[in-house]
Amino acid sequence: MQIALLALQGDFAEHEAVFRKLGCATLQLRQKQDLLQKFDALILPGGESTVQGRLLRELDMLSALRQRIRDGLPVLATCAGSILLAQQLLDDPTVHLGTMGISVRRNAYGRQLSSFAIRGTFGGMKDVPMSFIRAPQIEFCVPDVEVLAEYNGRITAVRQGRQLAMTFHPELDEDRRIAEYFLTNIVQKDR
Ligand code: GLN
Repeated sequence: MQIALLALQGDFAEHEAVFRKLGCATLQLRQKQDLLQKFDALILPGGESTVQGRLLRELDMLSALRQRIRDGLPVLATCAGSILLAQQLLDDPTVHLGTMGISVRRNAYGRQLSSFAIRGTFGGMKDVPMSFIRAPQIEFCVPDVEVLAEYNGRITAVRQGRQLAMTFHPELDEDRRIAEYFLTNIVQKDR
C-alpha cells in the first residue's frame, strides 16, 4: 500500500508518521513529476489552504490531481485539505480542487475558539479525539455526502464516495482509528 502526501506546506510529516506506523509505504508529492509515481491514496494535510492552493497552481499540479480524484483516487483531507476539496468556499470566490460537494467557511470558529480539543463520535466510533486549529466549518453538503461527525450542530467530518474530509486534525493525536477507517473502508474497498 503506497500512500502519497501532498507535501507543499502544512503538517504532512505527522500524517506520514501515522501511515508508516500502520505499515504503509509513503511518498511525498512536491512537484508535478512526482504525480507520475504509483500511489493508492492521497493525503491532503492541514496548514494554510491559500498557500497550498497557490503552490498547486504555480507548480501546475492542480488539474492533474483533480483528475486523479475524479477518477476515484481515495483521499483523506484534514482542515486546510478539506478547503482544497470543497466545491464552494462561502467567504471566498476561489475554488481549488473542487471535487467534493461541500460548502466550507474558513476560520469559522472565531478568534477566541480558534483552537480547541474535544472527544466525539466519528461514524459510529466513540470517544475519538479531535483537535481543531483555526478550523473551517462545513455548512452545506450535496445529498450523497455522508456526515460522519458533528460538534455542537456543526458538521466536522464527511465522506463522499472515496473522499473523506474533516475539519480537525486526527494526525495530532495518538488514536489511529480514523486512519484505519480510511484504509479499511475506502482504500482497500472495491469500488
Ligand atoms: N485556517 C486554515 C485555512 O484557512 C486552516 C487551518 C488548518 O489547516 N489547521 O486554510
